[in-house]
Amino acid sequence: MSDAGHVFIVSGPSGSGKSTVLREVFKRREKLYFSVSATTRAPRPGETDGVDYWFITDERFDEMVEKEQFLEHARYVKCSYGTPAEPVREKLREGFDVILDIEVQGARQVKSRMPEAISVFIAPPSMEELERRLRGRSTESEEKIKLRLETAKNELSEAEKYDHVVVNDDYMRAAGELLDIINNA
Ligand code: 5GP
Repeated sequence: MSDAGHVFIVSGPSGSGKSTVLREVFKRREKLYFSVSATTRAPRPGETDGVDYWFITDERFDEMVEKEQFLEHARYVKCSYGTPAEPVREKLREGFDVILDIEVQGARQVKSRMPEAISVFIAPPSMEELERRLRGRSTESEEKIKLRLETAKNELSEAEKYDHVVVNDDYMRAAGELLDIINNA
């Protein structure tokens, strides 16, 4: 199995700029597969079903949990998120490295099932900057923003448990650092 790919768990609070960093990494690296999660959250403007997420109902989500089709799953800001297991296994067999963009509870589940997975935490330069970015996005209600900020504080306290922490002070630089981690695995 030496030709099989590696699993990279990438976590970071919303507003950490994780998606921008990941987008840059995908531009610069071949044979890298982005695991498309299933979620019960509503699509944001510009998001595409099957590309950003599989947008599914609560009923469908529960059915997938029951059939054990998720590698991990978690509740986050009142919605459910899960990683469909089969595409990950298939891509690993094909020799792809796989990126799981998941939050901290899911990261813990993957680490316990796949201890060889490499975990990377993308941290914002500061809490102030995180709040500024979250508000700048302005696609969410004040209540949801507050909840995301609260969640972010809890998530930041988990950073030290990750194999690597990448501070996103500049997304091009952070992407380079993440790419080095992937290429050296
Ligand atoms: P957002 O709603 O902003 O797209 O994502 C919220 C959080 O859910 C992010 O931290 C993201 O990494 C995480 N997330 C996305 N997909 C999954 C998943 O399949 N499982 C888990 N546990 N978290 C996920």
